[in-house]
Amino acid sequence: MSVPPRPADARRPHAFRASGRYSALRLLREALGGHQGWRRAWRKAEPRKEYQVVIVGGGGHGLATAYYLANHFGITDVAVVEKGPIGLGNVGRNTTIIRSTYYRPENIRFYDHSLRLWEGLEQELNFNAMVSQRGVVYTYHTDGQRDHMIRRANDMRLAGADCVELDRAALKALIPAISLDSGRFPVLGAFMQPRGGTVRHDAVAWGYARGASEAGVDIIEHCEVTGLRQANGRVTGVETTRGFIGAGTVCLAVAGHSSHLAGMAGIRLPIETHALQAFVSEAIKPFLDVVLMFGAGHFYISQSDKGGMVFGGAIDAHNTYAQRGTQWIAQEVAAEGVALLPALARLRILRQWAGVMDMTMDGTPIISKLPLDGLVMNGGWCYGGFKAIPAGGYTAAHLIAHGEAHPLTAHMDVGRFAAGLTVDEPGTGPFPWAH
Ligand SMILES: Cc1cc2nc3c(=O)[nH]c(=O)nc-3n(C[C@H](O)[C@H](O)[C@H](O)COP(=O)(O)OP(=O)(O)OC[C@H]3O[C@@H](n4cnc5c(N)ncnc54)[C@H](O)[C@@H]3O)c2cc1C
Repeated sequence: MSVPPRPADARRPHAFRASGRYSALRLLREALGGHQGWRRAWRKAEPRKEYQVVIVGGGGHGLATAYYLANHFGITDVAVVEKGPIGLGNVGRNTTIIRSTYYRPENIRFYDHSLRLWEGLEQELNFNAMVSQRGVVYTYHTDGQRDHMIRRANDMRLAGADCVELDRAALKALIPAISLDSGRFPVLGAFMQPRGGTVRHDAVAWGYARGASEAGVDIIEHCEVTGLRQANGRVTGVETTRGFIGAGTVCLAVAGHSSHLAGMAGIRLPIETHALQAFVSEAIKPFLDVVLMFGAGHFYISQSDKGGMVFGGAIDAHNTYAQRGTQWIAQEVAAEGVALLPALARLRILRQWAGVMDMTMDGTPIISKLPLDGLVMNGGWCYGGFKAIPAGGYTAAHLIAHGEAHPLTAHMDVGRFAAGLTVDEPGTGPFPWAH
C-alpha cells in the first residue's frame, strides 16, 4: 500500500526555508565558512492558547505523527508537547533495529509498510538517518524451532515481506565469529530478512522534528502534561507545567507512560509498563555486519557505525516506570551473547541503559480513538516501536485527519480487548506477565 501524494494545499517541507536544505555542497560551503551558517533545525516554540491538534510526547511517534499531519494531511495547527528535550525517551534509547519479521499477517503488512517508508525516508526528510539494510538473522536450535520459523517465513512471504533460509555453511560464511557447535545450544540454521537492518535513532527524532517544524508545527519542549481537561464527554485540552493548552484533538504518543496519561482521563488501558535494557561495548574493528538474533534465548546484537557492539535481551519482569534495569537481565544477556559469539567475552561494556516499554496484553500496538471524544492514542509498542515510527506516525495522522483508522491499522483499535478480538502477536513478546 503506497503513501498517497501530499495534498496540493499542504506545506512542502522540501523547501526547508528555515533550516536550509542539507547537501554535500552545503557541507562543503559551511566547512569553508567555519560552520557559521547552520541554522536551528526546529524552532523553539512557546505554547499558544489553543491548537487544532495537541500531540503529547516528543518521541519518534509523536514527532512523526505531527510531521505527517502537517505535510501529508494539510493540518498544520499542531503542537507537540514534550516534558523534556525531544528524543530522550525510547526513540533515543533503543537498539535501532528495523524489520518486519512478525507472525500475524496484519502486523507483517503494517511493519513491512514501515520498512518501505524507511527506504525513502532520508530523501523525504532531507536528513541522513543512516538507514542500513544490512539484514537481520535469526538462529534456530531445534527441529521444532525450525518448523516454527518456516511458518513465520511463509507468513511473511504471503504478506509480501522478504525472508530467506540460511544453512549452517551459509551462516558461518556470513558471520565467521559465530559458534555453531557450542555444547549447550548448537545452531542448526537460520532465517534472514535481507531488508531488515538498523537506522540511527537520534536522527529519526531530529529529522521528523525539523520536517514538522518547517511545516508550521510548534514543538514545545520542557512542558509536561499533568492533566487532561474534558467537558460534555469530549477532551478540550491539556493541563501542563506551562499552563492550559486547548485542543480539538489530543493524541497520546507517550510510549511507556501511556497508561499513566490515559488514566488522567479515567481510562484504564490493557497495558503494563516494563523496563527494557540495552548495552554497548567499547569500539572494535568491523566484527559483525548483520543484526543477529539468538533463537535459544532472548539476545540480539549489531555493530554500530562507531564500532561498539550494541546488544540487549528480554524486558525486566516487574512493572516499573524507572528507566533502569536489573542485574539479573544483564547477566542473562551476557551469558546468551557469549554462547553465540564467544569472542564477546573479551569485550568491556561501555554503557548500559534502559527505557520504559508500553506492553499490550496481545503484543499488537494500539492506534485508536479512546473512549473520550477527541482523544486518540499512538502507543502500545511493546519493545518494537522504533521500526514502526514511519508507519505509526503516518497511520495515526490518518486517524486524526479522517476520523477513521487507516486500513493497515484497523486491527489496532483498543476495542479489540473488550470484544475478545485480540491479535496475539508472538513476535513482540505479548503476555508480559509471563516473561
Ligand atoms: C533498550 C531498548 C531497545 C529497543 N530496541 C528496539 C529496536 O531495536 N527496534 C524497535 O523497533 N524498537 C526498539 N525499542 C522500542 C522503541 O524504542 C519504542 O517502542 C518506541 O521508541 C516508542 O515510541 P516513541 O519513540 O514515541 O517513544 P518515546 O521516545 O519514549 O516518546 C515518548 C515521549 O513522551 C514523553 N512524555 C511522557 N509523559 C509525558 C507527559 N506527561 N508530558 C509530556 N511528555 C511526556 C517522554 O518524555 C518521551 O519523550 C527499544 C526500546 C528500548 C528501551
